[in-house]
Amino acid sequence: MTDYSALLSAIPAIQHGFGNKSALLPASLLHYRDTLPEKKQVHGTRIVDVLQPGQLCGEADGFYTTQPGILLSVLTADCLPVIFSRRDGAAIGAVHAGWRGLLDGILEQMAQRIAHDDDPANWVAAIGPAAGPCCYEVNEELVAQFQQRLPQPPALISPRFRHLDLAAIAHDKLTALGFAAVDHAGSCTICTLNADPQQPQRFKYTSFRRNSQRRAQDPQHPDIKGRNQYAAIIINP
Ligand SMILES: [Zn+2]
Repeated sequence: MTDYSALLSAIPAIQHGFGNKSALLPASLLHYRDTLPEKKQVHGTRIVDVLQPGQLCGEADGFYTTQPGILLSVLTADCLPVIFSRRDGAAIGAVHAGWRGLLDGILEQMAQRIAHDDDPANWVAAIGPAAGPCCYEVNEELVAQFQQRLPQPPALISPRFRHLDLAAIAHDKLTALGFAAVDHAGSCTICTLNADPQQPQRFKYTSFRRNSQRRAQDPQHPDIKGRNQYAAIIINP
């Protein structure tokens, strides 16, 4: 089942969706696949203005457009996808925010891009499926780095010893940056099981972490290349 944001679903001028292991790109958006810009995500903070379908964006982790009919997307497998829309659907954005992007300020970069022509107060943001605080274990040094560099409360950043809550950090940042509303769609990419037991896949999402653990035990197990899920959004043509 595709995950949708209630906030974004309420905007008639756009379509969006968060993919998963059985439908990497939500079926309702497949039709627009050929318009996707070409890009290489590098856990950076560069935001690109997309002006035409299939635009060559180079290395980039954030995308912004006011053009109808161009699908914006980011690919994730545990990292945090955030998609954005102006309340009237006249402009949209998408961001790939892993821990590095959150720390280095990709959400701030997107807010700055929006603020160039507009006010984030006219925008809403939806946080998609990502590694949750239930499973996202990191080393103590990384938690300390977050707690030193970000203004968010230490318990919000790391609600459990050696675990990060990427979605809570993003939500707090987006609120502080002045977005009108923020919601969440989907659940933890590492542990969420498929709701439908008839599905061949045991887990709902592609997870880089789960796959790496599996491959450590069984080197024959295939890697996730080409199987990351899309978070995608388009202004209706
Ligand atoms: Zn989990």
